[in-house]
Amino acid sequence: MGENILLVGELDGERLSSSSEDLVGFANSISKDLGFTGIIFALPTDGSLGRETEGKIAESISKASRNKVELVFMENPAFEHPHPLLLTDALEAFVLEKHPEIISFPHSTLYCQIAASLSTRLAAPVVTGVEAFTCKNAQPVFERCLMNGRWKALVSPAASPWVLTLNCGAFAAPNEQNSQVNVIRQKFLKTNDRYAHLGMEQSTVQDSSLEKAEVIVSAGRGMLAGPQWLDLIREVIGILKNAALGASRPLCDAQMLPYSCQIGETGRQVAPRLYLALGISGAPQHLAGMRGAQCVIAVNSDPDAPIFNRADYAVVANAAEFLPLLVKKYHETMSEGDN
Ligand SMILES: Cc1cc2nc3c(=O)[nH]c(=O)nc-3n(C[C@H](O)[C@H](O)[C@H](O)COP(=O)(O)OP(=O)(O)OC[C@H]3O[C@@H](n4cnc5c(N)ncnc54)[C@H](O)[C@@H]3O)c2cc1C
Repeated sequence: MGENILLVGELDGERLSSSSEDLVGFANSISKDLGFTGIIFALPTDGSLGRETEGKIAESISKASRNKVELVFMENPAFEHPHPLLLTDALEAFVLEKHPEIISFPHSTLYCQIAASLSTRLAAPVVTGVEAFTCKNAQPVFERCLMNGRWKALVSPAASPWVLTLNCGAFAAPNEQNSQVNVIRQKFLKTNDRYAHLGMEQSTVQDSSLEKAEVIVSAGRGMLAGPQWLDLIREVIGILKNAALGASRPLCDAQMLPYSCQIGETGRQVAPRLYLALGISGAPQHLAGMRGAQCVIAVNSDPDAPIFNRADYAVVANAAEFLPLLVKKYHETMSEGDN
């Protein structure tokens, strides 16, 4: 087994994105099982971070990693904005210099594109959306979900390096380590005019109610079957304290609810005390946004729905019929309390 694992992270403002922190959690586990000793954390930047910010990033990696880390700030002014072609060029050169056994990225749109291009250039196997792994005869077997979590594929790449994208939240890192992090700044001056970045716009919705809510009532495609489903959900939210409305992606795609309600990998990450999932199948991309929920109640008409694997309480029912019963029961209980 070779020595190096290359983790390629991304910034969220001036901090590591949470899915980049998860890369370190993955490196901790796989190094323990397969004996990797060298962890390289590459972070593309435009070169303007400043020493203080770089120090804070190094500190967060130090707290998460159980191994010594070489943190490489890959600098190019064009990395101010995501540039998949240029980043692939830079990473290809970097990989040929460092010879890592594993190259792992967060499972984001940008990095799925880069993972695919890089694996083609290196003739390396790629496994996207990795959720877990086990080791058999000193070989890793990676797990990924298919068909919205109904099937699990087990994949063992035959040749290295292995290019992986890791699902958000699948490999949480501890926060109490104090590993050595050596900072290196490396300039990548190549330019690439095959891709024009025209701009970035911050979402106009800066609503933080979902992140602050203690209870989230989340609607999925299954709710659409019932009439007045939104009224029913609003009624439930009205009777619960500090509750907010969430949704799975199909409802936002169908413009039934705004994207600010979307929970998941490409939506909001939430950690309420109670998460009520109504008519949601439990696709990995949705679970990635609600992993932090303390208690999950799932209502689904399909007893085999994957969401039940994550649920603390499973209600096999038509959600549109279940909600009025829930509201009725609440009012009955409250009026008993009054008497
Ligand atoms: C790159 C990428 C990123 C993505 N990001 C996200 C994301 O951030 N968030 C997200 O949510 N999705 C995301 N998705 C989509 C995700 O893969 C799933 O398609 C989506 O989460 C499914 O939503 P759903 O559970 O509402 O719908 P479905 O998978 O269609 O499930 C509907 C469920 O409702 C149940 N049902 C039907 N009728 C009833 C009823 N009357 N009562 C109770 N239950 C009923 C069904 O049994 C089923 O389990 C992403 C996909 C990709 C490829």
